[in-house]
Amino acid sequence: MDKIPMNTPLVEMDGDEMAAILWKETKEKLVLPFVDLKVEYYDLSIRNRDATDDQVTIDSAMATKKYGVAVKCATITPNLERVQEYNLKKMWKSPNGTIRALLDGTVFRAPILIRGIEPYIRSWKKPITLARHAYGDLYRATEIRVDSPGKCELVFTGADGAERRELIHQFDGPGVAQGVHNLDSSIRNFARCCLSYALDMKQDLIFSAKDTISKVYDRQFREIFKDVFMEEFMEAYSQAGITYQYCLIDDAVSRAVKSPGGYVWACQNYDGDVMSDMLATAYGSAAMMTSVLVSPDGKYEYEAAHGTVRRHYYRYLEGGVASTNPLAIIMAWSNALTKRGELDHNDALAGFGRLLQRATIETVESGIMTADLQKVTTLPNPQVVTGLKFIDIVQKRIRKQMAP
Ligand code: NAP
Ligand code: MG
Repeated sequence: MDKIPMNTPLVEMDGDEMAAILWKETKEKLVLPFVDLKVEYYDLSIRNRDATDDQVTIDSAMATKKYGVAVKCATITPNLERVQEYNLKKMWKSPNGTIRALLDGTVFRAPILIRGIEPYIRSWKKPITLARHAYGDLYRATEIRVDSPGKCELVFTGADGAERRELIHQFDGPGVAQGVHNLDSSIRNFARCCLSYALDMKQDLIFSAKDTISKVYDRQFREIFKDVFMEEFMEAYSQAGITYQYCLIDDAVSRAVKSPGGYVWACQNYDGDVMSDMLATAYGSAAMMTSVLVSPDGKYEYEAAHGTVRRHYYRYLEGGVASTNPLAIIMAWSNALTKRGELDHNDALAGFGRLLQRATIETVESGIMTADLQKVTTLPNPQVVTGLKFIDIVQKRIRKQMAP
C-alpha cells in the first residue's frame, strides 16, 4: 500500500511519562504505517528542556508560527518535587504557558462524544465547548515568599518615569504575595476568537469571570468582551439566533451542571484549566476531551488536555498494568493531520485524519475500552484492555478500512 504523501511538516512536540509512551505508540502504529510522515521534531521531555535551558520549548513555538500546525504530548510542569525527582537545574515554567504566551491564542476544549459512554451529568444532551484564554494571569505570575514583616506594594513605573503604587499588604509576619497581568490586546483577541467560534458553531456564548470581587482586572475582561460583541458581532448573532452573555463564574458553574449543554463557555486562563478537567471527567475520564490552541493569526496546536498520567507510568515501570486511555492523544494526532491536510489541500491526508478518528470511536463503540471508560459505559460486556492494546486494535480496524 502506498503511503499518503505530506506537503508541509507537522510540528511534533514530544513529552513525558505515560503520555509519551502512548504518544510514541500512536505515532508508530497509527500514523507511520499509513502516512509518509513529515515532522519537525522537538523533544519537550523534562530532561531535554532542562538540558537546553528550555530553549527547545521556544523553538517549538516558533516552528508552530512558521508551519501553522503542531501536535503536542503532555509534559511535566516541574514543581519542587519534580526538580528533585529529575535533578533539574531549576523549576522551569510550564511549557504550555510558554507556548501559549508566544502564540497568544485561545484553547478550545470539547468532549469526545461516543455512543455508550454517557456523561455523569444526566441533563447533558449536547457538548459544552470550553474556550480557555491562553495568555497571562496565574501562568505568567511573579511570586515572592515574604519571610519578615514589611510592606508589599504593586508598583507601576511609566515610560516617563512616573510611578503608581498600590499597597498589597502590610505584613506583620511571614506570608506570600503574587503579581499577575494581562493585556487589552490579548483579551480582545480572546474575545474575538470566542465570539467567532460560537458564531461558526451557531451556539450561544457565555463569558464568565468574577468582576464582583476583581473590580479592575476581571472588570476589564467583561468590558472588552462587551465592546467587541457590540462593535463586531451583535448583528450576526441576532441573525443567527444566538446570544452572548456575561455571567459570574459561580453562576456559570451551576448553570453548566443544570443545563442540557450545547453552548460555548469562555473562561479566563485558570478557570478554563480547572473547568475543562471537570467537563472531561464528567464525560467519563480526563482523556475524553480534545484540546486545540488557536492563535489570532490562524495557527493551530493540538494536544491532549490531560497530564502525563504519572501514577500509571510508575505502575507501568514496575511491570504493572496501565490501562491508560489514549483517546485524547489519538484525537490530537488525527485532528492535526486533518487540519494539515485541509490547509495544504491534501484531501488524502485530511481523509486519513478523519478515518483515524472514526476508527478510534468505533473501537470504543464496539465495546473495547480502557478501564476508565468501563466505569461509565452503558454498553453490555465491555472488554477492558491496556492503552497499548487499544492502539493495536485501532490499527487493525484502520487496515481493514483502508484495504483495497
Ligand atoms: P494527569 O496526568 O492528568 O492525571 C491525573 C489522574 O487522572 C490520573 O492519575 C488518572 O486517574 C486520570 N487520568 C488522566 N489521564 C488519563 C488517561 N489518559 N487515561 C486514564 N486516566 C487518566 O494529572 P496529574 O497527575 O495532576 O499530573 C501529572 C503531570 O502532568 C504533572 O507533572 C503535570 O505538570 C503534568 N500536566 C501536563 C499537562 C499538559 O502538558 N497538557 C496538563 C496537566 C498536567 P487514576 O490514577 O485515578 O486512574
Ligand atoms: Mg488542567
